[in-house]
Amino acid sequence: MNVDYIIVGCGLAGISFAETLRKANRSFVVIDNASQRSSLVAAGMYNPVILKRFSEVWKAQEQLQIALPFYKELEVLLNKKIDYKLSVLRRFASIEEQNMWFHATDNPVLEPFLSDLLVQNNNLCIDAPYGFGKVLNAGRIDTDVLLKQYVDYLKKQNLFFEETFSYAELNSDNGIISYKGITAKHIVFCEGFGLKANPYFNDLPLNGTKGELITIQAPDLKIDFSLKASVFLIPEEEDIYSVGATYNWEDKTNTPTHKAREELVTKVKTFLKCNFEVVGQKAGIRPTVKDRRPLVGTHKKYKNIHVLNGLGTRGVMIGPYVAKQLYNNIEEGVSLNPEIDISRFIS
Ligand SMILES: Cc1cc2nc3c(=O)[nH]c(=O)nc-3n(C[C@H](O)[C@H](O)[C@H](O)COP(=O)(O)OP(=O)(O)OC[C@H]3O[C@@H](n4cnc5c(N)ncnc54)[C@H](O)[C@@H]3O)c2cc1C
Repeated sequence: MNVDYIIVGCGLAGISFAETLRKANRSFVVIDNASQRSSLVAAGMYNPVILKRFSEVWKAQEQLQIALPFYKELEVLLNKKIDYKLSVLRRFASIEEQNMWFHATDNPVLEPFLSDLLVQNNNLCIDAPYGFGKVLNAGRIDTDVLLKQYVDYLKKQNLFFEETFSYAELNSDNGIISYKGITAKHIVFCEGFGLKANPYFNDLPLNGTKGELITIQAPDLKIDFSLKASVFLIPEEEDIYSVGATYNWEDKTNTPTHKAREELVTKVKTFLKCNFEVVGQKAGIRPTVKDRRPLVGTHKKYKNIHVLNGLGTRGVMIGPYVAKQLYNNIEEGVSLNPEIDISRFIS
């Protein structure tokens, strides 16, 4: 089998790159062993504002400009709804926070994303005496549906191999990649936290942050917006909400823990005043990087071995944006933004 690209990893990074290739008429295969779960368990929110400090997410405008049409096209390709537009309401904990919000709405960079109207709370299940600020242009990608449907789509075309990539069987001689009977011009590693086991790139400072979410059933709550307080509360389906997420820098397993469940229940009870039941819990390792920027680029010695990683806490928005940059770099020789280029860590 002869293709333009081999992609290792079918999370948000792998799908973003595969789609960039498909639209450019480049051939590819994808290899994945379901060892990492970050994209699968993600809450899937895209939100251009950092709601702790009321500041813009890094390159938010550029990312949304690429990401929104990207997911729309995927909905058409897969014939499935995955993009749910969702208002995000930020609960104010004090008058000072209200003031900070309205100060931020005067910032021209944030103006398209922050409503300058104070939203009063009229839901008896929620404690919010200082009201909410509303974030515009936010939403949720159903990553669980996206990943499963995309794998099915690839399988139907015999483009998907369900296996652990064996680095020992990769050859890169004379500018040609060969791997178990497949030859390719390039290979792109999109392995999330699995990168730690990759001998070509395991010196990059990917630290990984475990995140856990619980799913609750709250029949009296009846909200159709996402609520950000001490944790996020996100509507999924009727009476079912995701609550999260936790941040743990020590544990590198995908196993849900009692401690995280307790933490999330305690936090949600600070503002949710009606009865609810925990009906699910999931965990994954976010591929986070020391300097909070993606890891994109080409191996120092092997010019057709590449990496697309470090999507951190915001893979939904960043994935399509960095995939395009890597593609343009490989195919057109366009320089990578130095902020994302792995060469910043290579001396
Ligand atoms: C609890 C939680 C909530 C989150 N919420 C959000 C959110 O609301 N919004 C948002 O934008 N982001 C969110 N994120 C972050 C987001 O999930 C990540 O940024 C994103 O999923 C990273 O995608 P990835 O493709 O790089 O990695 P992954 O999703 O980890 O995918 C890597 C893939 O590579 C495969 N793989 C690895 N090694 C090998 C190998 N040797 N052989 C074969 N296959 C291999 C794995 O099986 C996996 O499928 C959240 C993360 C967590 C954990």
